Amino acid sequence: MGGHREELRFLSPSQTAAVRDEFGTPCYVYDAKSLRLRAEEALAFPNAFGLTVRYAMKACPNGAILKLFDSMGLEFDASSTHEAQRAVRLGIEPSKISLSTQQLDDDGFKDLVKLGVEVNACSLSQLEKFGKAFPGGRVGIRFNPGLGSGGNEKTNVGGPGSSFGIWHGEFDAVVDVAAQHGLAIERVHTHIGSGSDPEVWQRVAKLSLGLCERLGPSVSKLNLGGGYKVGRMSYETSTDLQRIGEPVRDEVAAFAERTGTRLRLEIEPGTFLVANAGSLVCTVQDVVSTRRNTDAGRDFLKLDCGMTDILRPSLYGSQHPIVVVPTDDDRRNTAAARDDTDYVVVGHCCESGDLLTPAPDQPDVLAERTTARATPGDLAVIESVGAYCSAMAAKGYNSFPEPPEVLLNSDGHFHLIRRRSTLDQLTQNELLPEPAALL
Ligand SMILES: *Cc1c(COP(=O)(O)O)cnc(C)c1O
Repeated sequence: MGGHREELRFLSPSQTAAVRDEFGTPCYVYDAKSLRLRAEEALAFPNAFGLTVRYAMKACPNGAILKLFDSMGLEFDASSTHEAQRAVRLGIEPSKISLSTQQLDDDGFKDLVKLGVEVNACSLSQLEKFGKAFPGGRVGIRFNPGLGSGGNEKTNVGGPGSSFGIWHGEFDAVVDVAAQHGLAIERVHTHIGSGSDPEVWQRVAKLSLGLCERLGPSVSKLNLGGGYKVGRMSYETSTDLQRIGEPVRDEVAAFAERTGTRLRLEIEPGTFLVANAGSLVCTVQDVVSTRRNTDAGRDFLKLDCGMTDILRPSLYGSQHPIVVVPTDDDRRNTAAARDDTDYVVVGHCCESGDLLTPAPDQPDVLAERTTARATPGDLAVIESVGAYCSAMAAKGYNSFPEPPEVLLNSDGHFHLIRRRSTLDQLTQNELLPEPAALL
């Protein structure tokens, strides 16, 4: 195990110390330059008749990041009415928001549609609900095309084992419900999973075009979702959008020849845009060992962050680079500090599941990671935490605060974009009846 040592991504060792000094640890840092480069790559996605790139905001919904992408011409994909409302409150043009949700809230979605938010019906009952509220309206359909692909079973959202979207076998029912309410189906949407296999993604693009053809000329937009795989560890590779997009562009062009309909393409990357643009700067709290008098012992590195800030390792067994940054110059320059050591890296929660170095895809199995030898007080950086980390963590567990978020601009200046949360915020909604009134 171990044996492979990772390097810092976009922060230098001295910037890492500057983040600690200015904002404390743990602290998320996002790199504006990386965000811009990824957005530009997405905006260059091959297309035949126009392209809309929607940022899947659930990956990292901080308002400053949304505003940055908005300024670059990206539009947005929201996964709940609450998320859509969050974007609207930021001042994002509602017509730039598309909602595809597992829960189409009655009270929320009608107001959003009236503002101009687009809805993709993700089940037959959602389509009914939409049709009753907006007879004669225009709607999108999220289909489950029958194939899925994700980095693991939890992130695969297509195929017969997935509840996402309307099963392609229900095509006739979709047509019936839409006809009952006079709805025009103008978008076909598929999203088959996060970290999907490019080959499967391309096959799904073809299936989706088939669905557009069966629905006929009311369909003017084809949304192929997100899920573009990103290499987080240095030995992993990222999806080449040009390579996967070119055959799809040709298919869309052939579709136009055949049917006379020029489909506008939409893609919805979350991970691709933000994953490698985020780092979590933290501090080594402790280094402990269970090696004495046993062969089964381990060396553990305990950090001041954990599942409260990055849940993906505990949830999926995902791999994130972890880099120890020795803090004192003397030690940084001695042979000892440069020695590689294998550690099991754990988080700060009182729970053995708070494991930052699980075996790949096996969240319950301890694995080791090679880093510089660490002592308490050293800094450590967990890399590639831009997607589904700050957004998706065990917030408030053990009453740890939510870390601040900082955006590094292209001049090397750090902008605070979210403060560290306080204990008051954690408990502000609690009510305290007299115990005597309860017993
Ligand atoms: C989550 C999601 C995305 C983004 O997925 P990534 O793997 O982050 O690219 C896109 N579209 C929909 C509908 C989603 O639910």
